[in-house]
Amino acid sequence: MSESSASIVKVIRCIVCPTGCQIQAISKGSDIEFEGYTCQRGLEYAQQEYFEPKRILTTTIRVENGFLPLIPVRTDKPILKEKLNEALNEIARTQVKAPIEMGEVLIENILGLGSNVIASRDLTKN
Ligand code: SF4
Repeated sequence: MSESSASIVKVIRCIVCPTGCQIQAISKGSDIEFEGYTCQRGLEYAQQEYFEPKRILTTTIRVENGFLPLIPVRTDKPILKEKLNEALNEIARTQVKAPIEMGEVLIENILGLGSNVIASRDLTKN
């Protein structure tokens, strides 16, 4: 394989530690190689971010009888980036009841992705 067939297809900023290495995903023929990481954790982060990026989802859920009409929520684990919109739609169809405690699971195993949607704060009844 010649060097001239290599091209950078994505630049990924590693967020695993404060050093913030800039990692390049480089296409070489049918392979993707990574350059610019300085440790194994960085390589694993770049591979995950390139092949199967995931994000913590943060949003709000409607509350039927709460002191506030909405409660901020987040997933307790990152979920596949490509599933974020589907998860948001599922959350938009959900309504919960107060009182709610911070950390309480409001949607268990959303879309079967292995992540729960949890409350980011307490919310008392109206
Ligand atoms: S590659 Fe390693 S040293 Fe660089 S930011 Fe990521 S974790 Fe930190």
